[in-house]
Amino acid sequence: MMAPLMSATVAIVGRPNVGKSTLFNRLVGKRQAIVHDQPGVTRDRIFGSAEVGDDQRVQLVDTGGLALAEDPLGLSRQVYAAVEESDLLLLVVDGREGLLAADRAVWDALRRYAKPTVLVVNKADTRAARETQGEFWGLGIREVLLVSAEHGAGMEELRDAIAAHAATVPTPEPPAEAAAAPPIAIVGRPNVGKSSLLNQLVGETRVLVSPMAGTTRDPIDTLIEHEGRPYLLIDTAGIRRRAQASGAPEELAVMMARRQIERAKVAVLVVDVTQGITSGDLGIAGTIWELGRAAVVAMNKWDLLDDEGRRRLEEQWPRVQELLAEPPRVNISAATGRGVAKVLPAVAQALAGFHAKLGTGEINRLFEQAVRSHPPPSRDGKEWKLYYATQVGDGPPTFMLFANRTLPRNDPYRRYLANRVREALDLWGVPVRLVVRRRHE
Ligand code: GDP
Repeated sequence: MMAPLMSATVAIVGRPNVGKSTLFNRLVGKRQAIVHDQPGVTRDRIFGSAEVGDDQRVQLVDTGGLALAEDPLGLSRQVYAAVEESDLLLLVVDGREGLLAADRAVWDALRRYAKPTVLVVNKADTRAARETQGEFWGLGIREVLLVSAEHGAGMEELRDAIAAHAATVPTPEPPAEAAAAPPIAIVGRPNVGKSSLLNQLVGETRVLVSPMAGTTRDPIDTLIEHEGRPYLLIDTAGIRRRAQASGAPEELAVMMARRQIERAKVAVLVVDVTQGITSGDLGIAGTIWELGRAAVVAMNKWDLLDDEGRRRLEEQWPRVQELLAEPPRVNISAATGRGVAKVLPAVAQALAGFHAKLGTGEINRLFEQAVRSHPPPSRDGKEWKLYYATQVGDGPPTFMLFANRTLPRNDPYRRYLANRVREALDLWGVPVRLVVRRRHE
């Protein structure tokens, strides 16, 4: 069984020109961001994933890329939104210049978020840095590290410090009553109607626990019951909060969706049909797939769709079908409630597929038939032979195939086999995992 993971989000903050972007590049590893010496030049990349420990990754935000060019402190509403959504801040200062008033001003603006913070004194390779070091203690940040983002000094210590903080990020605890309820994420870009859909769902089902309940330990999730079965709608407090505080950057919202998806078994991807299917929608769809969760797509604002929009949408839909293995799709209007009653049945269907279990006899018949009707192409004059198949897990369904050879990860024949399993078991929107092991007959 897969335990739900939480990946921590780390924001790199600081006034302009202290080296935030260089540090971001360094931590992300590849040259994902372009560094310019001039202040205010927009960065190529704002978000990235950094490896900080064995098998431990964090999401990194370079807030320099979210700053307003005209703001001398490099702050903006988007920077505040990123800070609010983060678990850890890296406040970067320039060791060569020493503590400036602007550093203090940035910290004064950000400290009220009360986020764990590491002070990163950059450009520490210079002699000046060794002399100014003491000044920074005045900021009152206890954890201080000296680095050179440009030359890579101090990176190991910094990664260790990030890893230690990331390990303490609590996985939100669902209410005790929710133990048996499958967690469901409602995800999508800002303003697509997540909050409206949530309100409709809550309005038409029996709510067992909700963030509005006013309990002492305020839950962030909503536990509902539909046709006798419980569902845990996750991070509903966050959905409502973010819907109110409009203006959060779309890229940030897309990145944050990952945290919800990680906790869920099924993700309901809400799309605003008046916008068509955007790259942001596809980015979230890709994340659902990458994390191996089941998907349902809710095409929202259907009441606003005209013929031209409809034509465009149906033209774009195959992209989503391909990305998410033909997920259940519901056309809805969260504003009027039309079609909303189809959402939870679609979720139930995806969930059933996510936990589908099959007897060994049936599995072997299924794979044998698939191989017979479309034999695998032989490679180097040697054909691929399947001996035996067995299911080794569910959530998502995972099958182990014993054969005379393994199949490369991207072998089209894998996709073919997975699709046959999908068709036979109605696993729409559900990933099917195949593990191929080599065995001598
Ligand atoms: P969120 O940011 O994804 O939670 O989006 P909201 O639920 O806050 O919705 C954004 C805006 O779209 C609000 O003004 C809603 O009233 C509006 N909206 C949401 N769903 C629909 C819909 O189905 N039809 C129409 N016409 N408007 C909608």
